[in-house]
Formats: sequence, structure tokens, C-alpha cells
Amino acid sequence: MPDNTGSGIIQEYDIVVIGSGPAGATTALFAAKNGLKVLLADKKQELGAPIQCSGAVSHNALENADVFPSPEFIQEAIYGFAIYNATGEKKVIDYRKIKPDEYGSAEGCKPLGYVVDRRRFDRYLATQAERAGVTIWLKTEASGYRVLENGSCEVDLIKFNEPITVKAKVVVGADGVQSQVGKWAGIKTHIKLSELASCLQFVVDGVETSGLLEIVTGHEWAPGGYAWVFPKGHGYAEIGLGITKTMCTNNAQQYLDHFLKDSFFKDRFKNCKILEIQGGGVPLAAPLKTQYADNLILVGDAARHVNSITGGGIHTALSGGKIAGEFLSALILNGDAPTADNLKGYHDNWLKAMGNNMWKLYRVKRKIFDTADVLQRDEQLYATMSNYFSPDSEYKKI
Ligand SMILES: Cc1cc2nc3c(=O)[nH]c(=O)nc-3n(C[C@H](O)[C@H](O)[C@H](O)COP(=O)(O)OP(=O)(O)OC[C@H]3O[C@@H](n4cnc5c(N)ncnc54)[C@H](O)[C@@H]3O)c2cc1C
Repeated sequence: MPDNTGSGIIQEYDIVVIGSGPAGATTALFAAKNGLKVLLADKKQELGAPIQCSGAVSHNALENADVFPSPEFIQEAIYGFAIYNATGEKKVIDYRKIKPDEYGSAEGCKPLGYVVDRRRFDRYLATQAERAGVTIWLKTEASGYRVLENGSCEVDLIKFNEPITVKAKVVVGADGVQSQVGKWAGIKTHIKLSELASCLQFVVDGVETSGLLEIVTGHEWAPGGYAWVFPKGHGYAEIGLGITKTMCTNNAQQYLDHFLKDSFFKDRFKNCKILEIQGGGVPLAAPLKTQYADNLILVGDAARHVNSITGGGIHTALSGGKIAGEFLSALILNGDAPTADNLKGYHDNWLKAMGNNMWKLYRVKRKIFDTADVLQRDEQLYATMSNYFSPDSEYKKI
């Protein structure tokens, strides 16, 4: 059970992780597995709620972070993609057909990915961390940190409305798209409005799906982003979109209504019943140029570890969390000081493992959305998305 007893006494940990989304829970898990004393704090009282995510994640992403694809959080298995252009022309990339020996529901085959329930997924990840020895404090909001002269730091928390200060060697900001932790250390975390996608989705009944993530490109439906139809399990589906406000004349809700009522899917959608409405922001921005400071690193959305073409951030949060947890345990157990100079090693490891590719993707995204001609831009996005999800994509691991 999470330890929620407030004491007011200063407690000491090797690391304090702020935010128990996929990035924070994974950082905490790998740090604890490798011998660190870890506190994981989240301001929420129910992890993953309210849901602000469609939950699509690849099998590889889970496997690479040692996450067992459990029925506890999987809502539906995914086998491929259907990418549409603005008029409904489509490219289907169904791995059940492309690699039938590897992907499918038959014995010995695996799904390409899953749609997960983020409430259960986040709770599952936190449970794995707790079982590895991490202390979890829910309803605990971090409000600041101070570097101490002895080389450690203090983190200010409000736990169940009571202030409490905790000592640590390193504080990890895994506090999501609206991250404040980086700001505490003076890291430039500002996101331009032109690089922040506004996302809205309906969970619906009455829309058939077939094990594919369907992605609809085109300025008409989702300026600066794309629309989607994802299978959600038990016959439900997610219909949503992400738009970039600086490229729009309407808001996300108006675009979603337009997509439901006027797109080439209007007959397919006509009997759908809306069961839930979910939304949130996604940084379609470059990774932060500096993701570390004295006694502090950033991971996940907080560091802009988001695929700027797809908007996916679960995979990158898991991978970044693993890199962070392993790096911090090696550094601290080696007795090295958690100075900015030493913590730069985390950023370097991350760049090598995935960051350099994320920078490449960001440049591709910029090139597409900087194209003034709408038709050309639509064509480029459709081609890039189709290529991105194909079996020989150079970006397959992101
Ligand atoms: C509508 C929508 C659909 C999406 N769909 C997908 C998808 O299908 N696939 C995909 O890969 N990605 C998707 N994403 C993106 C994905 O949800 C994020 O990239 C991912 O959740 C990032 O994980 P994280 O751990 O960095 O941050 P988060 O999951 O945002 O977790 C941050 C945590 O920090 C906590 N926190 C914040 N501030 C504090 C504080 N001061 N003190 C304590 N706790 C704090 C929050 O409560 C939260 O629990 C979607 C996003 C949206 C908005």
C-alpha cells in the first residue's frame, strides 16, 4: 500500500521522482531495482485519472521496459495501421498480412501493440515500482527544490495538505506536459503555442474497428495534427484528433464535430454513442536542449520526450525512464556527485539511445508544418505517416 502517513520530519532518499506517469514510475522502478532508495510522489489521488490519453503503445515499447503485457491494463491488441489522406484514400499496413509468422492472434504470434487503459496501466507501473521497494506518496504535490551546500538537495512537498520537506541526492521531474520542475532549476521549458497540440477524443459505442490504428491526415479534419479511430476493446472505439491552435480557425471540439458529421466516415459514425470525453495537451516540440541541472533531471513529457509526428509519448516515457533510472543508480552507487556536469551523462545516454532520432523526427515535422501550401503539406504528412508505420521505417523504434 502507498505510504500516506505525513510526519513533518525530514526524510532522506537517494532520489525523489515527481510524477507517477509512465516516465516517473519507470524511472523509479529501474532506480530501485538497481539499489537506490526512491520516493515517487504524485499529486493525484488516483493514478492515470482523469484519462488524458488514447493509450496506443507498441509491444516492443513494453518489452524494452520489462513491462509484461498484462490483461490487467490491455483493452485491445493492435496489428497494424490504416493511414488516410484528406479525401479517404488509404494505405493499410497490416502486420498480420505483411509478417504472418510473427504477428497475429494465433499461437506463437504476437500483437504489434496495444491500446491500454491508462488508469490501470499507470497503476500497474506504480505497483511494479512499489514491489521493487519504491515508496509512493499519492496526493502529494511538489512545490520546489533547493540545492544544499553539501551537494544534496531538499524537495518541498505538500502531502495531504501538510507541508513536508524531503532530502535527496537527485530530484527527477517526470511531471508531464505542464512541468514546473524544470523551471525551478531555470531550465528553458517554454512550449510555443505553435508546437502544442490540443487533443480531444470521444470514447464511443457503435463504431466497428478491426485491430488497426486508423489515422486520418488532412488540414480539413485536423490542422497541424491528425484525427484517429482506435479500437478500445469490448466493441468500443476512440474517435479523436489533435490540432495546433495557431493553424486553426475553430477549436478542437468544432473540428471533432466536423470530422464526425462531414468526413468520409460519416456513415460509419452515424449511430455512435459518446460514452466518455477526454482531452489534453501534447507537446509536438523539440526535446529540451538541456534536460539536467544540479541535482535534477527531467524525463518524459516534462523533457519533451514526445514523438513530434505521432504525438506518442508512452513509449518514449518508458524508454527515457529506464535510461534515467539506470543512469542515476550507477552514478549514485559509484559515489559521484549529482552535479549538472555529471548528470549531463543522462542526457548524453538518452541522445544516443533515442534522442538523436527524435531530433530528426522533429526536423521532419517542422518541414511539413512550415510548408505554406495546404495541399502540399497534406501530401507530405500523408506520405510521412505512411512511411513512418511501414515495416522498413527508419524510425520504427521510436
Ligand atoms: C488526448 C491524448 C491522447 C494521447 N494518446 C497517446 C497514445 O495513444 N499513445 C501515446 O504513446 N501517447 C499518447 N499521448 C501522450 C501521452 O499521454 C504522454 O506522452 C504520456 O502520458 C507522458 O508520460 P509522462 O509520464 O511523461 O507524463 P504524464 O503521464 O502526464 O504524468 C505526469 C504525472 O505528474 C504528476 N504531476 C504533475 N505535476 C506534479 C507535481 N507538482 N507534484 C506531483 N505530481 C505532479 C501528474 O499528476 C501526472 O500523474 C496522448 C496524449 C493526449 C493528451
